[in-house]
Amino acid sequence: MQINYLHSKSIYSKVVSNKGEGALEIMAVYPQQRFLPAGYFAYDASEDIVNYDPLKIRNNAGKLALLHEISHALLGHFHYRFDFELYAMEMDAWNMTRSLAIKHAVGVQESYINECMDSYDVWLTKRGTCPRCSQFNLQSKPNEFRCYRCLTRWKVSQDIQSSIRRVVIK
Ligand SMILES: [Zn+2]
Ligand SMILES: [Zn+2]
Repeated sequence: MQINYLHSKSIYSKVVSNKGEGALEIMAVYPQQRFLPAGYFAYDASEDIVNYDPLKIRNNAGKLALLHEISHALLGHFHYRFDFELYAMEMDAWNMTRSLAIKHAVGVQESYINECMDSYDVWLTKRGTCPRCSQFNLQSKPNEFRCYRCLTRWKVSQDIQSSIRRVVIK
């Protein structure tokens, strides 16, 4: 499947037509970064593309989310092997988001940041919970867990976008 990535210029016109107040100016500050309008906010590290929601960037939370993904890109976040690394990268990205928000005069909503970190907590907790006995476990290998109580082993997806699937290893 061929994917046509939109480069800055075509996206700018889209943002303007959507009256994305302020978001245009933010993206213009990062001319090296590719932005792709999508239904969500995410940094695609393999392609070095910031995906954003063209409707939500109109509001403050959307701009904050955009700055968050830009932070991942600026910090050069790439692969993580363990869940705690992902969690640490999220914390780093939010710290940078806070300083970028000041730079771009975007309001920092700590409640929004907390919500995002909480959703990671939920995600990480579900991944680490044994599908057999519900014991919470720390990760033993990248994308793999082993229950210290019942010895069940299960694999999880690395993709944060994908739903949590725990596949028991026989
Ligand atoms: Zn993030
Ligand atoms: Zn177990």
